[in-house]
Amino acid sequence: DAGLGSWPARRAAMSPGRTAMVFADRRTTYAELYERITRLVAALRAAGIRPGDRVAYLGPNHPSFVETMFATWRIGAVFVPLNVRLTEPELTYQLRHSGATALISAVPIDADVPLHLRLDDLDPLLAADPDHHAEPAGPDTAALILYTSGTTGHPKGAVLTHGNLVWNCYNLLVSVDVAGDEVTLVSAPLFHVAALNQCLLPTILKGGTSVIMPGWDVDGCFDAIARHRITWMFGVTQMFAGLSRSPRWASADLSSVRTLMTGGAPVPEALIRIFQERGLVFCQGYGMTETSPGATFLEAGESRDHIGSAGLPVFFADVRVTRPDLTPAGPGEPGEILVRGPNVTPGYWNDPAATAAAFTDGWLRSGDLAVVDGSGHLRIVDRTKDMYISGGENVYPAEVEAALFDHPAIAEAAIVGVPDDRWGEVGRAFVVPTRGMPLTPTDVREFLTGRVAAYKIPAHVDIVDDLPRTGSGKVRKGPLRARPLP
Ligand code: AMP
Ligand code: MG
Repeated sequence: DAGLGSWPARRAAMSPGRTAMVFADRRTTYAELYERITRLVAALRAAGIRPGDRVAYLGPNHPSFVETMFATWRIGAVFVPLNVRLTEPELTYQLRHSGATALISAVPIDADVPLHLRLDDLDPLLAADPDHHAEPAGPDTAALILYTSGTTGHPKGAVLTHGNLVWNCYNLLVSVDVAGDEVTLVSAPLFHVAALNQCLLPTILKGGTSVIMPGWDVDGCFDAIARHRITWMFGVTQMFAGLSRSPRWASADLSSVRTLMTGGAPVPEALIRIFQERGLVFCQGYGMTETSPGATFLEAGESRDHIGSAGLPVFFADVRVTRPDLTPAGPGEPGEILVRGPNVTPGYWNDPAATAAAFTDGWLRSGDLAVVDGSGHLRIVDRTKDMYISGGENVYPAEVEAALFDHPAIAEAAIVGVPDDRWGEVGRAFVVPTRGMPLTPTDVREFLTGRVAAYKIPAHVDIVDDLPRTGSGKVRKGPLRARPLP
């Protein structure tokens, strides 16, 4: 049985007394976790869930997410985590499109599914007699359908198989010394691939402890690190920026932390330096939902010499950086990242057209641009779609956004290309000021002068209260591009 459904039973046999999860004041050992899952399996089977069915879960991080997921896998069904930040029509689309026959929801939703359980309904279900039978899963059995955040177009359901998830764990364990005594902070949302597959699953595989936070919050993170002696966490850029700018940053005791891991969005070098100057190991990875997600990783030992790089291809995957005609990009030349390997999705759920468009000769087209250096390390440049051309020069907004990160009065910035009569396209920056600090468009442009080439300086600057974001924290640039100029 190559399936992840077997993991709780194996862990309960190997390390029954170790703490699997901590949530608020509740601790669950591996023996208890397995026991709860077997009862849930019995209840869900009794309710008619069968192998291959889709079971959706809608809610913030909670132990029930983990228990429902493993119960689903033991039945041989497919787990469909939904993003709590979506609107009801968006959720309805994903429920219909995945053909989910069961939904477990921790937040109110009016869903048309045969079996709809609220979080409160689960506790009575745990009175069921345990059902120890696990449906064996092969490497190609579907485990997850994850709807991609959709910064463009309608969402697609990336299918990740049991094999994809296992190989992603192996790739991570080759690059990071995840230990059996790891105390992992799971504060990014579990309905995204990074928290689920880079933090929770490898921690369970090794028998470590996952400290589950219901949602991201800077003070809650500092509290959790102090109280649980956190050794490892993943965060997107915004989360680490929030920590580094908190009044608690200077005095926080971070001595328990062994490794911090980031990825999922461009990472300004200035942010990495802040963490490295405190003596912390701060690793960057690059990946996407479709690659489970790890595609490249910069190991701890290299994180100083290759600062800003997203590292080398993970151990069990092949990565190429190519021109539009698929020949290799030259040194220093940005090209598209292509990925192939056992961690790569077989395709999108019920969407052969999107699947066909995503692959060329078995390689997944990422739509991201990178430059490869002499030692094979990748530096992520930007998304293909976000690049714009001003006066014949390519501008990669991520580079300019990273430069703005150094300005103390700028909390967040996003730049898009907009049409321009003279230059073809020019940049338009949307800038969120740090609370209470004055900032004008002229300040922004003057700050960039001398820091980046003149053609990269946005012609238009809008000072705004916030930026539209996807659930995974990525700026949605489509709506920004569509905003009429004042
Ligand atoms: P998703 O489709 O939501 O899983 O997000 C994947 C996307 O996040 C990639 O296609 C990249 O555009 C972006 N991304 C992931 N890691 C990095 C990184 N280290 N640097 C810059 N962008 C990244
Ligand atoms: Mg994507």
